[in-house]
Amino acid sequence: MANTFKRGLKLSTRKHATEGKPVEMVPGPRQVFIPVNQHFGAPNACLVKAGDTVRRGQKIAEGASPGPMTVPVHASISGVVKKIEMRTQANNAEGLCVIIEAAQGDKTSDTLETEYMPPLDPFSCSKEDALTRIREAGIQGMGGAGFPSHVKLSPPPNKVIDVIIADGAECEPYLTTDEAVMTEKPHLLIQGLTMVMRITGVKRAIVGMEDNKKNLIPLIEQEIRLNERVRRENLEISIGLCRTRYPQGGEKMLITALTGREVPSGGLPMDAGCIVQNVGTLIAIAEAFTLGKPLIDRDLTVSGGACRTPKNIRAPIGALLSLMPAEFMDLDRERLAKILFGGPMMGNAVPHLDIPIQKNTSGIILMTAQETLADPEGPCIRCGRCIRNCPCRLSPVIMNNSLEAEDLDYAVTAGLLDCIECGSCTYVCPARIKLVQRFRVGKQRLRARQALERAAAQQAAARKGD
Ligand code: SF4
Ligand code: SF4
Repeated sequence: MANTFKRGLKLSTRKHATEGKPVEMVPGPRQVFIPVNQHFGAPNACLVKAGDTVRRGQKIAEGASPGPMTVPVHASISGVVKKIEMRTQANNAEGLCVIIEAAQGDKTSDTLETEYMPPLDPFSCSKEDALTRIREAGIQGMGGAGFPSHVKLSPPPNKVIDVIIADGAECEPYLTTDEAVMTEKPHLLIQGLTMVMRITGVKRAIVGMEDNKKNLIPLIEQEIRLNERVRRENLEISIGLCRTRYPQGGEKMLITALTGREVPSGGLPMDAGCIVQNVGTLIAIAEAFTLGKPLIDRDLTVSGGACRTPKNIRAPIGALLSLMPAEFMDLDRERLAKILFGGPMMGNAVPHLDIPIQKNTSGIILMTAQETLADPEGPCIRCGRCIRNCPCRLSPVIMNNSLEAEDLDYAVTAGLLDCIECGSCTYVCPARIKLVQRFRVGKQRLRARQALERAAAQQAAARKGD
């Protein structure tokens, strides 16, 4: 029987519209709007100004101050910087974007007009050089929060890691990008996995996927068999099939399903001896070494009832759906009721189509009114369904009550920081209470409060030193 975790939901996967479809390259966009900050961590500063000519792959933003928690951003097309301005981004916040207008005849190819780094062999360079390459290539988690990959791959010395997990579960309804890239680039996936194993010194890895993708097993097993390094270094790479169950792709759930280990409350995958990397991220790592290519393109699914041409696409970072030609992407604007960046469970609803595609945009779902849960919120009827279905065994109703009472500290005590924002509680709530949306806002308020407290402590320390 396939592995799984306790609780979770059996959802209608709604993947049929794009399942098995190849990834289609977006026809050369005239303009891209590249967010300067797309990662989880310290902010970047712009390296270019309006009027500058840039080439595809050129670094255009990097950490404003030294520190590991930044990843640079690169031009995804060659052209001229038209403007640098604040624009709405996928998280609905305003953020600085570099707007590049394509040079005449520019192609988003990997060979023309590019400024890639020279290839680097991760198996002969030092671990530090390999981590620097991953960082310089702007690689961050492509499956979720955008955590810098070089940081994830450098756990502190007191954490013993013995398993790398390639996350290809893709448990969100509609999304089929991970399936598409595993189908089209299995060799790069296994190559990226062996590179990460080399960097971390780990000898065991599992490619995790849900059992609705078991048709990919022969393909991936063949790549494992053919990979010379796997044979030569006796690496143990296996495929872990998990039951199709939401949120199977969450790091903590996948670790439990594939290894039987639990990530402790408040802990990280490394506390269970694991590092989890999305399959797309592993492919980007392979390309950063073999091609010297930074993370400037993104594979994603565009689907939903208001999309007449649902497909998996490869878009330059910063591309807008609204600028894609109708023959490539045909949208039914009359029936469009909701636009989601990401899947319907964890994605963000955005106000319009002029939102740039980012490094962690796994999909854009264009939903009709019939596909959305549009019922108004009612009062809590204390049914306990949210508690019974939370995969992290939290009490969403208590966290919500605490946040409504402005008691952030009690919300944290009730588990706010352990919430993975999977949306299961919102989905099952008969009162249609927007629980996960409140938890996201609660976490933002907590971060803002912590930043204020840090600033006050620094000021107090400075006053003491005067
Ligand atoms: S409380 Fe958080 S982790 Fe639990 S079901 Fe709700 S969103 Fe998911
Ligand atoms: S599922 Fe909704 S109605 Fe039921 S206890 Fe939780 S918040 Fe209340």
